[in-house]
Amino acid sequence: MSAGDRFTPGPTHRQIVFLTGSGISARTGLGTFRGPDGLWALEPETEEAMHADLLPGSLPQLWRVWGRMARTARDHGPTPGHRAIARLGASVITQNIDGLHQAAGSEMVAELHGSALRAVCLEARCSWTAVLDPGGGPHPEDHGVPSTCPRCGAPTRPDVVLFDEQLPQDALELAMRRAQRADLFVAVGTSGVVFPSAQLAPLAASHGATTVLIDIAPPVGSSALFDHVIAEDAHEVLPDWERRLHHVGGTSFLDPFLG
Ligand SMILES: [Zn+2]
Repeated sequence: MSAGDRFTPGPTHRQIVFLTGSGISARTGLGTFRGPDGLWALEPETEEAMHADLLPGSLPQLWRVWGRMARTARDHGPTPGHRAIARLGASVITQNIDGLHQAAGSEMVAELHGSALRAVCLEARCSWTAVLDPGGGPHPEDHGVPSTCPRCGAPTRPDVVLFDEQLPQDALELAMRRAQRADLFVAVGTSGVVFPSAQLAPLAASHGATTVLIDIAPPVGSSALFDHVIAEDAHEVLPDWERRLHHVGGTSFLDPFLG
């Protein structure tokens, strides 16, 4: 399919929901986790530290890695893809922990894997949370966070879901509700064929949504899961969608964002 006849949303798409993964943040220098240049390959000890059963001994490593990622994200800021999604007024379900959708102006973000920009208490039943001022070291104080929870005294930790941990139930339920209400469901920068997108896209489709995958190298099997697969750079496709939608009718809901 050429750029001229690829799928573009229209005025009938009022509930646009994006599911995003690490691919949308890759050009910030955050990279992706898997693959030959991924974080896991470059720093194998980091992957080891991502297992929940190593807590609390792995906390210094987790603070160092996720604090650094949070700082990189904050310093770089959102990509053209993040900005276009925000200007489209879409709601977002993300597997990313870099806070870049919020930085771009998206207000409705369900974070399935938590956030590297937040600290929580190691005691799961404690609701203490704080926003980081990310730095570079292995101590919570390096990121503007106390080492023990002010409420219960347990150690603090980055609010990032580790390998053996459950996805946060509230974010997962929010994601499912959004998928059910979507009339256009778009996966970007995520493989699209593994959990949760392999479940969320069919859920959206079963409630009547058109489903789209934007991936410059779509994974095998994706065309069976999505109505449209756009094998192009999301950072070009999404700003183009934004321009086309804005053009429709001369005025649009996008105007407040374009000054
Ligand atoms: Zn606590």
